[in-house]
Amino acid sequence: MKQVTVPTLRVEAYAPLAGEAVVERIRALARPLVGLRVAHVNATAYGGGVVELLFPLVGLLNGVGIPTDWWVMEGTDAFFRVTKTAHNGLQGADVVIDGPMQETYREVNVANSRFDWDAYDVVVIHDPQPAALASLVEHRRGRWIWRCHIDLSRPNPGVWSWIRPYLTAYDGAIFSLAPYVQPDLSLPLVAIIPPSIDPLSEKNRDLDPAEVEAIVRRFGMDPRRPLVAQVSRFDPWKDPLGVVDAYRLVKREMPEVQLLLVGSMATDDPEGWTFYDRTLRHAGEDPDLFILANLHGINHREVNAFQRAADVIIQKSLREGFGLTVTEGLWKGRPVVGGNAGGIPIQVLDGQNGFLVESVEQCADRTQWLLQNPAERARMGGEGREHVRRHFLVTRDLEDHLQLLARLMA
Ligand code: UDP
Repeated sequence: MKQVTVPTLRVEAYAPLAGEAVVERIRALARPLVGLRVAHVNATAYGGGVVELLFPLVGLLNGVGIPTDWWVMEGTDAFFRVTKTAHNGLQGADVVIDGPMQETYREVNVANSRFDWDAYDVVVIHDPQPAALASLVEHRRGRWIWRCHIDLSRPNPGVWSWIRPYLTAYDGAIFSLAPYVQPDLSLPLVAIIPPSIDPLSEKNRDLDPAEVEAIVRRFGMDPRRPLVAQVSRFDPWKDPLGVVDAYRLVKREMPEVQLLLVGSMATDDPEGWTFYDRTLRHAGEDPDLFILANLHGINHREVNAFQRAADVIIQKSLREGFGLTVTEGLWKGRPVVGGNAGGIPIQVLDGQNGFLVESVEQCADRTQWLLQNPAERARMGGEGREHVRRHFLVTRDLEDHLQLLARLMA
């Protein structure tokens, strides 16, 4: 296990955005829990939504007096290939976790289970990669929770029946949405907690428009022409190829439009580079189509700038546990054209702050409409920001989390 050090955050700093009442409620909920020791465990310190979430959540838990550590499990390439297959299978893909794969998964979890878990009152395990730990650790003093971030509404039955026995060892589980709770997983405690964003992070804080423009120009885009962007790992479920097809349809009608696909590679996602190459091939030669990844020096500030520079954000996912990129886009006052999948429909309210789409043609049609209607675009963007302010800021996540800790320790 490797520890990630996270700066402590003060909840008071969030009052101007989240409201004084939320901060007061958090303080009151935290008071009886002060001194509780919590560990969060996941599979990567870099890339993907879980990392985005853990930085502010762990920082704020420490800030309210609950000493919280973040540990990243260690794994081999073979292990991460198995867990990516498991991830795909749990989201419904037609895959098999065969005997040797099961063995690889178990061995890596056994190696990670040798650790001083007794130091913690509560251990929160994120996603399938370290999910076996609860059943493998020898001494369990604290309470163990599994937080699942993936779309578990229609898991592949074979993959689900393989992982389910590992999950029954938990004292409770957290899912992002109610439909992800499988009827045959009965645990003493189940909570529905959608993820959230940190409005004060480098990824989401306000940026000077001049800086946004400079960043966009640095990467070769023209800030005076319409820009459509999807920020996502290069993954089949995120459908970057479909986004390219939709852009081509829009471009027939609006030749000035530009498309930006930004995708960093998470260290626990071995499929990333292969699918990045496929996306490049699919895109072909087009000076108005920009595909950027880690190697181009894209960091949080650049992603922030791209989301602000875009006139429309697309997130054309076919499956999506929640979709923090949607939350980030809405928070920046941009309408989002999102796939009608997983966590996207609780964020994108069709016709109010964006559009839900089920095909390339719909995606192109709604994107073009938004590009051609600036007043509606601005109104919808405003509604999106307010929807996120009310429901998807990290303060709401923290409040839900503290309520869960209280129930767990009662
Ligand atoms: N992200 C990023 N750079 C990229 C692509 C993604 O920083 O090039 C971030 C993105 O801003 C978001 C997270 O990675 O915060 C992705 O979370 P999401 O829930 O959308 O998808 P996941 O990758 O967890 O499936």
